[in-house]
Amino acid sequence: MAHYCKYFIVHCIDFRFGRAIKDYLEKEEMLGDCDIVSVAGGVKDAGLILGQLEISLKLHNVQEAVLIGHIDCGAYGGSGEFVSFEQEREFQLGELKKARDMILAKYPSLKARMALAKIEPSGEVIFEGINA
Ligand SMILES: [Zn+2]
Repeated sequence: MAHYCKYFIVHCIDFRFGRAIKDYLEKEEMLGDCDIVSVAGGVKDAGLILGQLEISLKLHNVQEAVLIGHIDCGAYGGSGEFVSFEQEREFQLGELKKARDMILAKYPSLKARMALAKIEPSGEVIFEGINA
């Protein structure tokens, strides 16, 4: 019997974001209605992401890709690789948009959204929704 879900989620393996991502997906009413790809660097390996998406589409007919990046990602060398938070943020937004554009070029009927996570000095993880 066929079974379907709506969302295809991509996020980094980084354990510091694990609980917050689950909470975010629950708040957005995606948890339980999504395939989840957790891989170092999130969208960094675009070929891997496309391969997983192809399987998710075939098996579960997903309708929307949700790409979650984060600040201080070790797969990109961490925050120390950047001269400022703004530069790192711009870079990570660029990575998300590049992956989004690649996904939509191959699967134009899909929807896509992006978010960038960061750890506040208080330890709280916040998600910035990206509209672009
Ligand atoms: Zn990471």
